[in-house]
Amino acid sequence: MLDFARAGAAVGGTSATLEKTRVLAAYLRSLEDDDLRRAAIFMTGRPFGPSKRSTLGLGWSALSKVVGAISGRDDDDLQRIFRKHSDLGDWAGEALEGRTQNEDVSLAEVEATLEAIRTSRGASKAAPLEKLLRRLHPEAARFAVKVISSEMRIGLSEGLVEAAIAEAFGVPVTQVKRVHLITGDIGETAVRVKHGHIETSTVTLFQPVRFMLASPVETAAEGFARMGAEKVWTEEKYDGVRCQLHYADGRVELFSRDLKETTSAFPELAGNALKLGHEVLFDGEVLAHRDGRVLRFFELQHRLGRKKVTSELRNEVPVVLVIFDLLYLDGRPLLDEPLRERRRLLEGLGVGHPFLLARLEEATSPADLDRIFADTRERGHEGLMVKDPESPYTPGRRGLAWLKLKRPLATLDVVVTAVEWGHGKRKGVLSDYTFAVKDTATGRLVNVGKAYTGLTDAEIAEMTTRFLSITVDDRGWARVVKPEVVLEVAFDSIQHSGRHASGYALRFPRIVRIRDDKPVEEIDTLERVAELYERYFGAPTAEKLSEVASPPGPASGRGRPPHKVRR
Ligand code: AMP
Repeated sequence: MLDFARAGAAVGGTSATLEKTRVLAAYLRSLEDDDLRRAAIFMTGRPFGPSKRSTLGLGWSALSKVVGAISGRDDDDLQRIFRKHSDLGDWAGEALEGRTQNEDVSLAEVEATLEAIRTSRGASKAAPLEKLLRRLHPEAARFAVKVISSEMRIGLSEGLVEAAIAEAFGVPVTQVKRVHLITGDIGETAVRVKHGHIETSTVTLFQPVRFMLASPVETAAEGFARMGAEKVWTEEKYDGVRCQLHYADGRVELFSRDLKETTSAFPELAGNALKLGHEVLFDGEVLAHRDGRVLRFFELQHRLGRKKVTSELRNEVPVVLVIFDLLYLDGRPLLDEPLRERRRLLEGLGVGHPFLLARLEEATSPADLDRIFADTRERGHEGLMVKDPESPYTPGRRGLAWLKLKRPLATLDVVVTAVEWGHGKRKGVLSDYTFAVKDTATGRLVNVGKAYTGLTDAEIAEMTTRFLSITVDDRGWARVVKPEVVLEVAFDSIQHSGRHASGYALRFPRIVRIRDDKPVEEIDTLERVAELYERYFGAPTAEKLSEVASPPGPASGRGRPPHKVRR
């Protein structure tokens, strides 16, 4: 751990990116596979790779108690040191100077401690942390705390870690990025690159592949134009949770959108996969589904996040997997095959309940797409996926081969940055959430609104506990929280506003749902807010007027199909 800390300190000690890369590359090159995997993950400020549930559930107060106890310093002293650094790791490093045992602790031991913290509950999380920090050299403790608090603050972006891996093993950085796109795991990427496994169309079963994503479009015409194909395929946009299913030789694993293993959440899918008779990797959406009907997302939510799925719950909310892609079949990776071929092979498998295939249609004109869109809305789906049948599967990319056509007034995915105590009925719970989108120009989060409706009392109670544990600044009536809770919000309109740093405010925002499946990196951007503003709420422009006047175009209004059926 001390070598890791020294490398980290050297990276933080220079502002020249080439030097940062060189230092980190030299360190990574010196490591055995397992340590390489750990170090690459830790350097990006994460305690775990993506396949583990990554929250340690250790708040600032537990951490400060432990550091206080080991250092023997009083609160004033600890606060003085904190004010000097305003950084948890640097604070812990200085507070612990001369107060620990300076033992040589391996990265494996640090990882085991992180795992022990993750799996212990409540107050017992402190014990493994204290044991570790007592043993570490203060410099190593400084970096252990940086990893634990997920804030390295040494000027090292994920891109620089990729560059260092490239330099360490003499591979072009573009190839490292491509491997990383597939694995979604910087540690696994480092090990693959080290061994020259950079063939990016390779799929290894039970190693999750990053999901292919879709770009949003507002109208059928735009969808057609952006795809630039004569024929496009459409599938319903199912409102469930994304899922990857891997099966071979009696072993099944399921992964969620953020590449965490979720096999135990869906025992009926895992159980039935054992009867598939082929080695497969499916990409699809899990839906709550009973008597041939899709249930509302709300019902599926009852099953999500449960550690144990009882048979009552399975009966109450049965699930199916609607498969829309096949990435591997009997020893053959299919990423580079066109969608047309992947679908043909998928249909050839003849899968049965609880596996269904996505409903597929073909459109040859925007009018066709409009009609299918209206039909899909009639069937109760939130929108349509438009796919290029000739496209390969590109993991992790939000390209133009997959488009999503949603209702005209799209919802936004945002992250909560601050919360406030509620009033009246909501007294004693944190119920008012200020949320932000990402400003890609600066990389910062900028607030765009505040929501207090949409969640049930039970959800609010649960969120209160969560927000208390991720508070970074307690201001009495309000708390600044770590930006990690992603919400989908609906709203009536967008206004220019001086109140928020974004320059915009969403009017009447309401929470549609908590998006625990969506990583913060994928929330909506300020550009998207600006784009929606221009399109729907800015001053009317000639283009906008003609769009409304000449069909096809989006109609507003809830409860009716947004597109007229034209045949
Ligand atoms: P969004 O979450 O709004 O970015 O939309 C993309 C998500 O739609 C994907 O991650 C899937 O979970 C979901 N989805 C639903 N139906 C499909 C489909 N037929 N093809 C691909 N993705 C789908």
